[in-house]
Amino acid sequence: MRFWRTPLDADKMKIPRGELHIIVERCKGCEFCVEYCPRDVLEMSDEFNSKGYHPPKAVRPENCVNCDLCEMICPEFAIYCLTVEEEPVPVEGGKTS
Ligand code: SF4
Ligand code: SF4
Repeated sequence: MRFWRTPLDADKMKIPRGELHIIVERCKGCEFCVEYCPRDVLEMSDEFNSKGYHPPKAVRPENCVNCDLCEMICPEFAIYCLTVEEEPVPVEGGKTS
């Protein structure tokens, strides 16, 4: 993650990681999750679900920071994110804790 300046508490900060789950059959292809993901994790796929909609797919899953915005914005409850417990990623300019 890049900042316009290094935060004073950078050595204490941890960037969270998320594991994304898409319930393809619930998706109506509205693209809200793709449009509003702040980390460009998602794109619409070329696949169809059984209703004939294109669901999203995670093209940059490693970028997910578990912010849950996609889960909050999805009108069909078709996408959610779980916390990944792993070693913290150091913030640029900070130290690993
Ligand atoms: S949890 Fe946040 S970062 Fe991860 S895919 Fe959803 S909107 Fe993007
Ligand atoms: S916001 Fe929900 S319904 Fe819309 S494209 Fe994303 S997963 Fe599908």
